[in-house]
Amino acid sequence: MERVLVFLLSIFLSAGLSAQLPVREADSLVKVHTALLKSTLDNKGALKNNYSIDLFGVSMYAGAAQKQKNEPEYRVNWSELDLYRRVMHFASREEAQAIMLAKKGGSFSPDIVRTYGNMLYAMPLAPTTEKPLNGIRIALDPGHMADDLEMGKIEQKFLDFTIRTGSDSTLFIQKVQLVEGRLTWQTAELLKLKLEKAGAIVMITRPGPGLCAFGTSFQDWRKQYYQQTLDSLVKLRGKNDPSISPVLSGKTDDRSVFRYVFRDVELRKRVELINAFKPDFTLMIHYNVDEKNTDWQKPTAKNFNMCFVGGSYQAGELSDPERRFDFLRQLLSGDMESSISFSGACARQFRDELKVPLAKPADALYLSSSCVKTAEEGVYARNLGLTRLTHGTLVYGETLYQDNKKECLRLMETKPHPEFPQLSVSPRVAQVADAYYKALLETVGRK
Ligand SMILES: [Zn+2]
Repeated sequence: MERVLVFLLSIFLSAGLSAQLPVREADSLVKVHTALLKSTLDNKGALKNNYSIDLFGVSMYAGAAQKQKNEPEYRVNWSELDLYRRVMHFASREEAQAIMLAKKGGSFSPDIVRTYGNMLYAMPLAPTTEKPLNGIRIALDPGHMADDLEMGKIEQKFLDFTIRTGSDSTLFIQKVQLVEGRLTWQTAELLKLKLEKAGAIVMITRPGPGLCAFGTSFQDWRKQYYQQTLDSLVKLRGKNDPSISPVLSGKTDDRSVFRYVFRDVELRKRVELINAFKPDFTLMIHYNVDEKNTDWQKPTAKNFNMCFVGGSYQAGELSDPERRFDFLRQLLSGDMESSISFSGACARQFRDELKVPLAKPADALYLSSSCVKTAEEGVYARNLGLTRLTHGTLVYGETLYQDNKKECLRLMETKPHPEFPQLSVSPRVAQVADAYYKALLETVGRK
């Protein structure tokens, strides 16, 4: 028996596995990360062929065959977790991906250990009474881009209907025209002033109303960048790729170009700007609609707030190395946990400031089909491009239903803001900005 043990031990050591002895807290690391997988990232258990988790660490695989042969595409041993987090924090997204792809199932190279091992996280500046967000870096991403109805129609983010109330003699007709990109811009512009006054360093992903993350209007982007963008997409994906084939076969009206070419590349540009800024918090600002109010030709009685974070991967959603890189990062970096907690603070502030309830899973179809609820009320994991590709702590806020019968009228009203009279905004938009602001104060104060 003793001889067998010595034999086994010698194999163990000669195979170089001594470096992989479980770390002391391995048990609890397995427990915590398995719980995050089950509750948030792979809640349907549809992606088990793409990962494994054990007392030594976590592996990601391209598919079932690679898992069977134990050929990881990415691997992080628990003993490397601290270094992995530093690489995710300090390297650019592209560098981090290249480092992880080169590492495969092995260890970090001595060069990476030297470069990142001793990098120090920046010490936050001390908050003061006047500057409670002193030195905090905040990225604001005002969703969509339209500033007028014409552009709102191209990006399909607009409301244009008439409300009729009363009877013949007292008929009251009111026109409702709203574009989401304008509401999100106004929210971000106001919020930026509030945050900067509190000492924060703020960036907005697009430079002005009606402009996109490339710094242009959609029409200017079409003139300057459309052809070269399409050419590079053809090179990358081939002519028959269903995502671009409609425009290649002549569907080149603005709506089609927006949908098949512009939307994705512009989203990538937003992500690039946010990740390069290395924010402490990213706020993706959106205004919602009632998804069952077909074509939005009349108001709805429903009204909810909700927040999204990444996660809730569906079957087939780990189909390429980049997606598997992000899945691993979401599992191990701490970004998911901090995003859920911050989004919880946002959701509570939305509810209290706006006096509108938080959505429950039964309140919208997508909440029960492609999302999963987190431990925070009103916060759902959802595998959106932005929630997957953006590093760090984030909230994807969906406040109010714009098509709600009261909200649509409130959102159209504008007046000079009492604290920043240079801005003319809806008092409702100002309340949304206040809610995000208070959630940041609460979260930074708690840190
Ligand atoms: Zn939106």
